[in-house]
Amino acid sequence: MNTKSFKEKLEIEKKGLEEELGQIAIFNTETNMWDATPDQDMMGEIDDNDAADRFENFEERSAMVTTLQARLIDINIALGKIESNTFGLCEVCNQPIEADRLEANPAARKDKTHMNEQ
Ligand SMILES: [Zn+2]
Repeated sequence: MNTKSFKEKLEIEKKGLEEELGQIAIFNTETNMWDATPDQDMMGEIDDNDAADRFENFEERSAMVTTLQARLIDINIALGKIESNTFGLCEVCNQPIEADRLEANPAARKDKTHMNEQ
């Protein structure tokens, strides 16, 4: 399989994800995970209501970090598979993932038959 265009797509998406994460999180080199940062605009003096708002905001931020990080991990896995020549194979049955599925999502880890399996 020619993986060049997939690799380019994955690397572009990876860069975008890292930029997005960089705005709301900081990379923890001890855990190799992104940690959500508090909202800088909200760091001034706050009353109790604001504190509740800020918490909600941080919760949203953490949820976004979790989502972006999960996608980044999938992309890193896909890039690793390109390096080891196992890219595009379903992780469940080891058969090639459908071309249209890979086009839509180059980080797909399973084919259409197994995409909903854990
Ligand atoms: Zn499969």
